[in-house]
This record gives sequence, C-alpha cells and structure tokens, in this order.
Amino acid sequence: MENETRELEKKLVYARKNIYEAADEALKKDIFDFAEDYKAFLNAAKTERESVEQAVKLAEAAGFRSFKECESLKPGDKVYMTNRSKNVLLFVIGQKNITEGVALVGAHIDSPRLDLKPNPVFEAEGLGLLKTHYYGGIKKYQWTAIPLSLHGVVFLNDGRKITLNIGENDCDPVFCVTDLLPHLADEQVKKPAYQAIEGEKLNLLAGSIPVQDEEVKEKVKFTILKYLYETYSITEEDFASAELEAVPAGNARDVGLDRSLVGSYGQDDRVCAYTALRAILDMKEPQYTAACILVDKEETGSAGSTGFKSRFFESALVQLTEKLNGSCSLADLNQLLVNSMCLSADVSVAVDPNYPEVSEPMNSAYINRGVAICKYTGSRGKGGTSDANAEFLSKIRKVFSENGVFWQMSELGKVDAGGGGTIAQFVANMNIETLDCGTAVLSMHAPFEITSKADVYMTYKAYKSFFEMQ
Ligand code: MN
Ligand code: MN
Repeated sequence: MENETRELEKKLVYARKNIYEAADEALKKDIFDFAEDYKAFLNAAKTERESVEQAVKLAEAAGFRSFKECESLKPGDKVYMTNRSKNVLLFVIGQKNITEGVALVGAHIDSPRLDLKPNPVFEAEGLGLLKTHYYGGIKKYQWTAIPLSLHGVVFLNDGRKITLNIGENDCDPVFCVTDLLPHLADEQVKKPAYQAIEGEKLNLLAGSIPVQDEEVKEKVKFTILKYLYETYSITEEDFASAELEAVPAGNARDVGLDRSLVGSYGQDDRVCAYTALRAILDMKEPQYTAACILVDKEETGSAGSTGFKSRFFESALVQLTEKLNGSCSLADLNQLLVNSMCLSADVSVAVDPNYPEVSEPMNSAYINRGVAICKYTGSRGKGGTSDANAEFLSKIRKVFSENGVFWQMSELGKVDAGGGGTIAQFVANMNIETLDCGTAVLSMHAPFEITSKADVYMTYKAYKSFFEMQ
C-alpha cells in the first residue's frame, strides 16, 4: 500500500531534479567539456560584432557555406547569412519543403555595456578621460572601479575600418571608471542606488601624461589623441563614425570549489547564443529546416536594422525559399510562418539565496535544474509578452523529456517585483509559435554573471533536440 502511494506520488507531483543527483560520470564529463568550449567563446566574443565573427568561423569549420555563394540548395545543406556584421542566421535545410515551417532558435548577442560617445575624449584635473553612454539596463554602481577593455570599430575619414580590442591581453592597458572613496562618500551612499552614480560620471580613465608644450591647451588630451593617431591613424573626428564598447576586461572563470559554475561578462545572452549555435552545428540532418538567428539590440528593445524587429529575418526566409523552390509568393511566406516554431533563446533568472524574496519559489528557475522554460515574460498583468500557447508547450516538453533534457518552468520573478522581455513577442508577432527557453542566470546584467555548467549543457541539448524534432 505504502509503495503504491509512493509510486502515485511520483506520477502526480511535478518534481524538478538537480541534474547532479541523476547524472552519471559520462554526463558529468560532457557537461564540463562543453563548458570549456563555452568559456572560449565568451572570451573571444564580447560584442555583437565579435560574436558574429566567431559564429561564422565555427560555422565554416562545421561545413556551413555563405548563402551568397550557393548556386542551389538541397536537404542537408548548411548555409549562413550575415546582416551588417551584427546578425548571423544559420540554416540546415530539412527534408520537408521549407513552407512546412522552420524550427527557429533565436538568441541575442548584445549585452549591457558602456558605449563611447561620438565625441568622447576630454581632459579634467590633469587626467584624460573618455565619455560614455551606457547601453542596456545596468546598475551603474557595478561599473565603477573594475578593469574595462575597449572593443569595436572606427571608420576613418577615408573609409578605412580600424578594429580595436584593447585590454584583453595581460600586457594590454585597461580602462576604469573611478569611484568615490568611502571616507568622502557620506552624501553619495545616502542616495538610492540608481542615483548613486550618475550616467555622466561614467567616464573612462584613459591617460595622465601631458605633452611638453606650453602652447597646447589640453596637454593630456593631446597625448591621448597623438597615441591614437600614431597607433591607429584615428583622429578625434573619427569617433563620430565609430562604435566602441567598454566591457569588463578579462576571461570567463570557473566559480566555486567544485568548478560547477561559470562566471563571465555577457552571458545574457551569449549563453543561449553559443548553445543555439553549437546545437545547429552539431545536429543531424533534420526533417524541418533548422534556423538559428543571433541578433543585436535586444537589450534596447530589438529595434533598428540589426534588432530582431528588422526585416532581415523575413527577407532571409524569402530568399531561402526562392532558392529552394524557385519562387516565394506571399502565400508561401505566410504558410512558412504559420507552420514555423521558435524557441526564443534568452536567459531567465535563477533563484538567488541572497534575494529569495523577489522570486516565487514554485515558479522560479533554480541553478542545476535544467533549461528554464518561460511561458510568458513581461511585467504587471503580463504586459509586453506573447505568452506561449499551451499546445506548443505540450509539444516542446514532450521533445525535451524524450531526449533526456532536464527542464524547469520559470517566471521572471514575483508578479509585482518588476519584469522584462525578450525577442519572443516580436517573433510571435510574425505568426510563429514561440516559447522562451534558456539558461537561468545569477547576477544578470552585472559585469560578472553566473550560470551553471549543467544548465548550459541542458540548454544545448534542449535546442539540439528541438532542431532534430520529427
Ligand atoms: Mn537577454
Ligand atoms: Mn538582458
């Protein structure tokens, strides 16, 4: 009798298992091996442009070809397209006609950071500094007094493109936003945290040696401009046509004595970008055409020519359909879209033992319990979310369970605690079944975000099983 009750309990109660309570040695090895590749990607891809570059490199090594160079396409073929160096879209052509739908996984490769202003260089109190404008949702106080590197491109007046990456090698100099000493911070520490550091104080320290010339007005600024000109041919006006991003300097690290966690900048959303990328690179030939898109501008609302709301994705589908079928009518496109499915691959929040009060324990993701599925994001009364259809969730959880994917349901915090969004709603607006599904993160948007290696691996397995769905 007692046994029967136990059995029935097992069947009836929704239990989320810790992956390590069930993992054998082989799975543990897979988890830890995968994390090494993941960290290498994080170190090489700190910006959207670098992420695209790395993705294309890995894709080409895995047999993907540029769509532009393909005369014709057949099932099993692997192709990629890029958009303005900031999006990459990869396809593996399926057995079924593309109008029967694609299986799309969409992640973003932009992360919160400090962008240089278009006219950034100035001098004050004998120091040379660079003005910044923060990008995405940051807690500004987290970005002071840590080493920062500078990544990006500058287009010179003659059109030449200069690529910068300063601060990642141990021998490189780094930059830093200075902060007030506690001894003199009486007024500062009384302010609410969001006001403690003002946006206009997020200036990067960039030098201190003045030129020895009485006639030059701003002597330290001159030295900085001279260095930039001699090293990169950059003049002050060239910053107008530049995109330079200050991000935390240094590599991804193992966190914890058991090395079970990854600590790094930019895991929102490079964790889903990398796992989605690896899933499409490693997958076997699919029934439905598999698509993986890595987009920019999610952190600022997905607008612009490189955000998900751009026409890039839709026109790519039309181009691909034309190449496969000879033509693509509006009816073909509509059919393709309504038949398509998408996992919106973005991070979720993991319950933090320091701040359990913002999470509702029954509906929150926990570290080491698998890929986090979010039926809806948004805020207040589900404002700003597409809210995935139950029919689609039913399909997805079946696929995950059949493929040994540990998964857990999650919400983005307590009902009244705040909220957020992903690209899901914009994909769903195209009439594509869409579900948020990604890795749970601690310290999201901080300069050093934490994920679980086991969850990262399960996210990869989730996307791979989705692509390989029959
Ligand atoms: Mn995100
Ligand atoms: Mn984010």
